[in-house]
Amino acid sequence: MFTQFFWIQKSYNLRKEQFDNKVKIALKSTVNQLIEYNRANVDTIKMCKSFCHLSKKNIFKAINPIILDSVIHNEFKYYKIEDTFEYGIFCAKRDSMIMGDYKKFESEILISPHKTSLTCLWQKDCYYLSAYFPDAEMQLFKEMGIWFIGSIIFIIISITSFSITILSLLRQKKISEMKNDFINNMTHEFKTPISTISLTSEILMNNAIADKPDKVLRYANIIYEENNRLKSQVDKVLQTATLEKGNYQLTKTSFDIHPVIRDLVKNCPAQFKNCNAEFSFDFMANYSLVYADIVHFENIISNLIDNGIKYSTNIPKISIKTYNNDNKLIIEVMDNGIGISKENQNNIFKQFFRVPTGDVHDVKGFGIGLYYVKKIVDLHNAKIEVESSLEKGSIFKIIFEQ
Ligand code: ADP
Repeated sequence: MFTQFFWIQKSYNLRKEQFDNKVKIALKSTVNQLIEYNRANVDTIKMCKSFCHLSKKNIFKAINPIILDSVIHNEFKYYKIEDTFEYGIFCAKRDSMIMGDYKKFESEILISPHKTSLTCLWQKDCYYLSAYFPDAEMQLFKEMGIWFIGSIIFIIISITSFSITILSLLRQKKISEMKNDFINNMTHEFKTPISTISLTSEILMNNAIADKPDKVLRYANIIYEENNRLKSQVDKVLQTATLEKGNYQLTKTSFDIHPVIRDLVKNCPAQFKNCNAEFSFDFMANYSLVYADIVHFENIISNLIDNGIKYSTNIPKISIKTYNNDNKLIIEVMDNGIGISKENQNNIFKQFFRVPTGDVHDVKGFGIGLYYVKKIVDLHNAKIEVESSLEKGSIFKIIFEQ
C-alpha cells in the first residue's frame, strides 16, 4: 500500500509538473505571437518603436485584447491544454487587472503560478499575463484515472489476499489443534480396552482359575465386551477415513425403516449396553420406505442414539419418532441430555469438532460421529437438522425426500 501511494503521488507530481510546463510554454508562445503580430502591424510598431520598454503607458496600444483572446485560445489548444480557464493581464505593482477574460476568478488569476512577464511588450516587470485553471486538479486525476483505479484494485486485491491468508492460517491452526485432540482421544479410547483385555487374559492364563468355570466365563465376557467396544471405535474411525478418501460405495435398496430401527435398538450394539437407557418409539409415518444404503442408515441412527446416551446426565431417555410431511419422511431422535448451545449447533457437524464442555462423566469421543452422519445424509440427498436447548435435550431430524 505504501509503495502504491508513493507511486500515485509521484505520478501525480510528474503530471502536474508536465502541465505547469505546458502552460508556461503556451503563455510564452502567446506573448511571442503578440510580438509577431505587432511586428507585422505597422501602426503598432510605430507606436511601440521598440518591443521592449515601450514609452507609451497605455498597454492597450501594445496588446489588442481581441487578438490576445484569439491567440491565447489557439496556443492552449495547440498544446492540448484544457479549455476551461480564465486569463488576464495584471499590473504587478498595483495588483490590479488590466484586461482579459476573467469573471469569477480574478483574485486566483492574480496569485496563479501560471504567469509570464510582458517585459518584451511593455515596461520591465510591470505587467504579467496570467491564467487560472479551476478544474486543473480534477483534470489531472482524470488523466491518471486508469492508474488510479488500477492501484485501488491492486490495494484491494492485496488486502483481500492478505486477509484470506491470515484466515486460512488461523483455520489450519484450529484444524491442527482439533486433530491433536482427536489423536489424544483416540489413543485414550483404544488404550483402555486394550489394557483391560491384556489384564483379563493374563488372569485367564493363570492355572489357578482353570477349575473355576464361572470366573472363566466372567473374564471371557469382559474380553468379549471390550473387544466389541474396540471394534466399534475402530469402525468409527474407518468409516470416516473411507469417507475422506472418497472411495465409498453406497449399495442402495428400498427398505422399511421401522423394523430396521426397532432391530437396531433390540440387538443393542455394544455402546448402548449397560446404559440403562429408556427407549420409546412413536412410528407415525404411513409411508416408511426409503431408498438408501441400509448399513450406513443403521450407522447414522446408532450414532445419534449413541450421542443421546453419551451426553446425558440422568437416565437417558431416547425417543425415536417418524412421520410423513409434504412427501417427506422425517425421523426424529430425541434425548433428554445436556443439550447443545446455539453457537455450537453450527459446528457439531464439522470434522473433529467437540463441544468444549461436552465431556460429561469423562465421556470421550472423536468428534467424527456427526461429521460422518452429515456426510452420509448428504450422499442420500437428505437433510439433517438439530433443535436443542441447554439442559433440556436435543432433537436430531433426518429428512428424506420421497
Ligand atoms: P463425539 O465423538 O465427540 O461424540 P460427534 O461428532 O458425534 O463426536 O459429536 C460432536 C459433538 O457434538 C460432541 O462432542 C458433543 O459435544 C456434541 N453432541 C453431539 N450429540 C449430542 C447430543 N445428543 N447432546 C448433546 N451434545 C451432543
